[in-house]
Amino acid sequence: MTTPTLMPYDEALARFEPVLGIETHIELGTYSKMFCGCATSFGAEPNTQVCPVCLGLPGSLPVTNHAAIEGIIKIGLALNCSIVEWCRFARKNYFYPDMPKDYQISQYDEPLCVDGYLEVEVDGAVYRVEIERVHMEEDTGKSLHVGGATGRIQGADHSLVDYNRAGIPLVEIVTKPIPATGDKAPLVARAYATELRELVRSLGVSDVRMEEGSMRCDVNVSLMPRGASEWGTRTETKNVNSLRSVERSVRSEIERQAGVLDAGGRIVQETRHFHEDTGRTTSGRSKEEAQDYRYFPEPDLVPMAPSREWVEELRGSLPELPAARRRRVQGEWGLSDLELRDVVNAGAVELIEATIAAGTDAGSARKWWMNELSRRATEQGTELAELPITPEQVARIQAMVQAGELNDKLARQVFEGVLAGEGTPDAVVAARGLKVVSDDGELVSIIDGVIADNAAVADKIRAGKVAAAGALVGAVMKATRGQADAGRARELILERLGAS
Ligand SMILES: [Zn+2]
Repeated sequence: MTTPTLMPYDEALARFEPVLGIETHIELGTYSKMFCGCATSFGAEPNTQVCPVCLGLPGSLPVTNHAAIEGIIKIGLALNCSIVEWCRFARKNYFYPDMPKDYQISQYDEPLCVDGYLEVEVDGAVYRVEIERVHMEEDTGKSLHVGGATGRIQGADHSLVDYNRAGIPLVEIVTKPIPATGDKAPLVARAYATELRELVRSLGVSDVRMEEGSMRCDVNVSLMPRGASEWGTRTETKNVNSLRSVERSVRSEIERQAGVLDAGGRIVQETRHFHEDTGRTTSGRSKEEAQDYRYFPEPDLVPMAPSREWVEELRGSLPELPAARRRRVQGEWGLSDLELRDVVNAGAVELIEATIAAGTDAGSARKWWMNELSRRATEQGTELAELPITPEQVARIQAMVQAGELNDKLARQVFEGVLAGEGTPDAVVAARGLKVVSDDGELVSIIDGVIADNAAVADKIRAGKVAAAGALVGAVMKATRGQADAGRARELILERLGAS
C-alpha cells in the first residue's frame, strides 16, 4: 500500500467538515480493585497485586466495590448526566493475554449514567459536548513486549504480562458525535480532555495522570464534504496519552483522511495508533467486521439500583466544579478573560488560591506564579505544580518583600535557592546572606562613593536633571549586589545632591 499524500490543514478544512467523538477511560483511585480486595498502587512489582478473582480462577466470585460506584456516580452528576434507577453489568467476551478471565466485566446496553454534557471554551467560543454515556468496567492487565526495537509485539522475542492492573475500576465516558467545530476541531478535542481531567480531579476520585495511564483518550475523527449531510467513515485513534497528543492526533487524522478522499480513496473504519515522534497515526486493527463480543448480563453480580436518596446525597457532596471556580476567582482576583485563560492554562488556579490563603494578596500571588515560577517551569520542561516549592513558601517570600526585608531582585534569588533544594525561604536568606541594605548610614557611604565615581552625572542632577538619577541608582544596586532598597537609594541620592 502506498502512503497517501497528506492535505495541508487549511485546504482540508476548506473542503471538509470534521466530526469528532471522544471515548475516555479513567482509572478510579480506589484503594482496592473493582471486584476483589487487591491493592491498586501504581508501579508495584509485577503480579504482586493479584488474587483468584482478578486472575479469573475457576470458582472465584466478584463483589462490587461500593466506593467505585460512588465515584462513577459523582462523575456522572458532574457531567450533568441522569443516573439510571436500575442497570446491570455485562460480560464482554474476548480472548486477549492481558484479560485473564477471557471476558471483561463491563456495561453494554444499560450504562449507569446517560445523557449529560460538558461545556468547553476555545478562543472565546463555548462548545457544548454532549455525553452519551458513562459506564463502569474493569481495567485489563498490561503486556510488555521484550526484545524488539519499538516495544510493540512485532519484532519482539517474547512478551510478559502484569496482572496488577487487571480489575482496577475503570470509568468510560463516551461523547455523542461532536459536529460543527470546523478548523477548531483539534482545539475542541484538547479543551474537552483538559476540562474533563480538571473536573474529575476536582472530584477527588482519580489522579487522572495521562502519563501513567490513569486517563486515556480514544479519539474518533471523520470527515464529510462541506455541505454534505451524511457523516463520513470514522477512524479511532487509541490510547492517546497527553493533552497535546489529543490535539495533534485530530489534526493529523484530518490531514490524512482529506488526502485519501482527495485521491479518490475511501476511509477504512479501523483503530489507529498515534506516534508522538512523527505526530502521525498508523493503521492498527480493522473494525470493518464488527467484533462479536457476545455480551450477556453478568450472572455473578446483582443489578445496580442506586437509591434516589443516595444519588441526591452524592449530588449535595460535589465540590465546587472547575467552571464555577474559574468564574469565582475571575471576579475575586479582578482578571480579564485573557488573564484568566493564562492562569488556567498554566494550571495555576489552585496554587494561587493556596498562596492567597497563606496570606498573600491576589496580585502578588499571581505575579510570582505566572511570571517567575512559570518561566522556571518552562525552562525545566515541567508543570508549575511539579516545581519543588509550596504556596506557603511563596507566601513567606512575598511577606519578606512586603516587610521591606527583600526587594524583587533578592526575592528571585530566594526562589532560585528554594527550587535548587537549599531549604526554606528563611534558610536560603540566611545561607546566602540576602538582606536589603536598609541601614541609611551604610547606604549613604556607598552612595557617596558612587557620586564620586560619576561626577558628570552627579553634576547634571545638581543642575536639576533628576531623571539622570536612574544611572546612579543602578550603580548603587550593582555595588550592593542588588541588596539595596532602590526607592530609598534614589531618595538619598537626590538628598545628597540637593535635588530633592
Ligand atoms: Zn484481586
